[in-house]
Amino acid sequence: MAEEKKILVDKEKCIGCGSCVDIAEEYFTLGDDGKSEVIKDYDEADKDIVGEAIDGCPADAITLE
Ligand code: SF4
Repeated sequence: MAEEKKILVDKEKCIGCGSCVDIAEEYFTLGDDGKSEVIKDYDEADKDIVGEAIDGCPADAITLE
């Protein structure tokens, strides 16, 4: 069985810029606190778009573990 990866947003680091939401709205939304939240389980098929969101985060707040 393939190892499940999980997308994590570090809310201490997130500055609420919304870049990840613009890039991958399936995966991220801005919560009531104005910070990004993960709304979908990671699917390896989406690795390009998730990678883009990770690379595009100016605060380095998103990780895939
Ligand atoms: Fe937060 Fe990074 Fe998403 Fe911007 S791109 S909202 S800093 S997690």
